[in-house]
Amino acid sequence: MYNIKWVGGIAVLLDNLKILFDPVKLAPFRPDFILVTHAHRDHFKKEVLESYRDIRVYMSEPTARILYGHQIPDYVEIVENGVEFKGVEFKLYDSGHVIGGKSVLINSDEKIFYTGDFCSSVRIILEPLKEIKTDILIIEATYGAMPYIFPNRRRLYKNLIKKVAYYVDTLGYAIVGARSLGTAQEVIALLSNTKRKFNLYVDPKVYKMTRIHFEYDYVKADYEKCPSFKPCIKEGVYITGMENALKLRKKGYEVIICTGLSATWNDFNSLTLSSHEDLNGLINYVVRSKAEKVYTVYGFKRDFAQILKNMGIKARQI
Ligand SMILES: [Zn+2]
Repeated sequence: MYNIKWVGGIAVLLDNLKILFDPVKLAPFRPDFILVTHAHRDHFKKEVLESYRDIRVYMSEPTARILYGHQIPDYVEIVENGVEFKGVEFKLYDSGHVIGGKSVLINSDEKIFYTGDFCSSVRIILEPLKEIKTDILIIEATYGAMPYIFPNRRRLYKNLIKKVAYYVDTLGYAIVGARSLGTAQEVIALLSNTKRKFNLYVDPKVYKMTRIHFEYDYVKADYEKCPSFKPCIKEGVYITGMENALKLRKKGYEVIICTGLSATWNDFNSLTLSSHEDLNGLINYVVRSKAEKVYTVYGFKRDFAQILKNMGIKARQI
């Protein structure tokens, strides 16, 4: 028997084991096993992990590096491919979302698979999440609603290179905004490997994430750290996080923004380049998993559960 619910993190309660994934709040029970799937802020809270220090907290090495640098606390247990805990096997797969991102298969009486945030499309960085057959599927639904259908990646890549070249040719520079961990590294890898050579400048946060990323997932890339847009860019491309990109837009700069959210923006300068699957990708993943029961979590979890139910799939949001 199992019970799956949202408790400020995802609780998977088995007869003999209380599992907690990605906690941002203290759970109303004492977990036996905790795992952080990746280093995005909506999937962990350091104070919460700290208060579980007498319990092991599992995460991949890149995730721990991003969270703690080289001072990884004792209660963090590094895990790469899997671990057995009280007779239950946890198998980990690369989620294709960000460096160190993991999806988890729990081999109990039923197979329970939690995707975490994931991408199963082929990108210039990372390996896509594999197709996993499971009985129960817990799937993220960040873009699990109708407007979020993205063009294929080749088209997005071509479009991004074209836009960047246009601004470099007309203004001498282009500014690209993307999430600091996940999409920014894709932009850097792409623009480092085009026929045309661009000088790439990245903000300090993106620089830190990118250094860690390419340490574990090597892609040839040339880029320089640049504290802020104005002082150091001569001719080239400035790559920055979303928050800063939006600020620069407000100041009147032309900024190319890469995010799935832009599917609803109707904005010429934005691209739906994302480290998440779009609605079609999510549906395909569910169908291929052959899961008997699907739990949706994050983002458009309600809409996505309804879409699945309309297709005759047993689904519910948590
Ligand atoms: Zn994420």
